[in-house]
Amino acid sequence: MIEPVRVFAGIGGNVGDIAHTLSAAVARIERESSVRVLASSPVYRNPPVGPQDQPDYLNAVIELEVLLSPQDLLSLFLAVEMEFGRVRAIRWGPRTLDLDILTYGDRIVDEPGLTIPHPHMHERPFVLVPLADLNPHAVHPVLNQSYCDMAEHVGREGLDRVDVSLFSAKNRDEV
Ligand code: AMP
Repeated sequence: MIEPVRVFAGIGGNVGDIAHTLSAAVARIERESSVRVLASSPVYRNPPVGPQDQPDYLNAVIELEVLLSPQDLLSLFLAVEMEFGRVRAIRWGPRTLDLDILTYGDRIVDEPGLTIPHPHMHERPFVLVPLADLNPHAVHPVLNQSYCDMAEHVGREGLDRVDVSLFSAKNRDEV
């Protein structure tokens, strides 16, 4: 019997009707029998990382409960990214949908193609600020700092909260 694991995942994109894509991707993930969406953070608009000649991103963090291994969860995320038409042409270039595993319980994974906690999460305001919105006092499994302290440390420069809701548990309960 597999125990459910609490996962925090980053979700973002900067191509097309981004708010619609992010909501549809959360609904798609929720339809998996091995995944339950527990919550979504607010959504933030923020400038691109890497090449600057691309549109702003919308980013959020979602909280999940999963009955999948980290590897199977990554496979699901890659499949959902493909379904939503992500094109991986340029590193850090425009993308319809980006899904990242930020944390998987307190597990540390370091293998080719999969690093958990996500190796860039501690330096990204667009990850730390929404993560701290959802779970301020939780502690990074490696760095041992709370997300609210980490978010305060990186600051929120460039982040703009937008009035979009990706998920509410009420929607799920009504289905
Ligand atoms: P990127 O396009 O920058 O989002 O990178 C996607 C690739 O990063 C995936 O194909 C994964 O193999 C790899 N990767 C490594 N660690 C993670 C993680 N924690 N979450 C998602 N992708 C990861």
